[in-house]
Amino acid sequence: MINTVYSADEGRYSSGMKYCRSGRSGIMLPEISLGLWQNFGDTSPLSRSREMILHAFDKGICHFDLANNYGPSYGSAEATFGQIMQADLRPYRDELFISTKAGYDMWPGPYGDKGSRKYLISSLDQSLKRMHLDYVDIFYSHRYDPDTPLEETMQALVDIVRSGKALYAGISNYPYDAAAFAYSYLREHNVPCLLHQLKYNILHRNPEDEGLIRQAAKNGSGLIVFSPLAQGLLTDRYLNGIPAGSRASRDFSLKKDSLTPELLEKLEKLNHIAGERGQTLAQMALAWVLRDSMVTSVIVGASSIEQLDNNLLSIRNTRFSDEEIELINVLTR
Ligand code: NDP
Repeated sequence: MINTVYSADEGRYSSGMKYCRSGRSGIMLPEISLGLWQNFGDTSPLSRSREMILHAFDKGICHFDLANNYGPSYGSAEATFGQIMQADLRPYRDELFISTKAGYDMWPGPYGDKGSRKYLISSLDQSLKRMHLDYVDIFYSHRYDPDTPLEETMQALVDIVRSGKALYAGISNYPYDAAAFAYSYLREHNVPCLLHQLKYNILHRNPEDEGLIRQAAKNGSGLIVFSPLAQGLLTDRYLNGIPAGSRASRDFSLKKDSLTPELLEKLEKLNHIAGERGQTLAQMALAWVLRDSMVTSVIVGASSIEQLDNNLLSIRNTRFSDEEIELINVLTR
């Protein structure tokens, strides 16, 4: 149990963090948000998770991104967050924007996965208990489920918002046509989609290529980006091998064999461009995502306060010359 008393840094909203409007809504989100997918579960020390979450809040990060199955183990990132909520962040609840999601596998049997109303609603009830919250700020359908009628998934989001268990609704990882349906269904039911959450980074351009960024803006939705550092590839983490304890060393969500000689050569060159800009590779990768005014926020993951602080410096320079953009494109397109 945590026993010390936390008092948030009084300068938390004047440390340089910018807050951007999410589509056509009243919500402003910090340019950098913190994600709890990995490094905050029950295999990570609670003291470190607490230190990082409170440090993030002290630096103006008021948006924390979770999902039912973040950990490891499943549910444990929410449980960690719940402990910190109870011990430290309760007085700051109204300053926090907390998300959770359901859509990927969570519990055994036919009702713990995908897009049914039963799964989404019962999963959110479990998430609220784990996080010791009465409501989340946004609840997402974590992925498009082609086997469930999309009306059912969307109506579950509408009813969740109507029930007061979430203030806003969002979608994540939706392909173009399903996103188009979702935007119009939610709008017609007066619960407009607040955010589409997508993977987008220098090495992964699908949202640009598939028109998903422009589509979100056209539909009045914000866009929030996950894995902006390609899980750590777009940092200096792997330039000299695979360090013990790194995500690639676990060979699970980031496979060791993705670190091919060709990729490492590209990363070296990107690292050089970053150096010329006076940034680390991680800072340049985040700045590159944030250069697009249609991006509301990037969700970073971090395994230490040092990484988080390094990443926070990216917002000092999110402008790129045409020449820099071209150099990056030549390397990665
Ligand atoms: P990133 O691309 O930011 O990768 C984070 C990892 O990169 C860290 O764990 C760390 O690796 C490494 N890293 C971070 N900063 C630095 C640095 N300055 N120097 C060196 N290495 C660094 O994001 P994630 O893939 O973690 O995704 C971020 C969040 O997005 C998740 O937590 C989650 O909230 C959300 N997400 C949503 C998904 C969805 O389907 N909607 C899917 C995936 C993520 P290491 O641990 O090795 O130190």
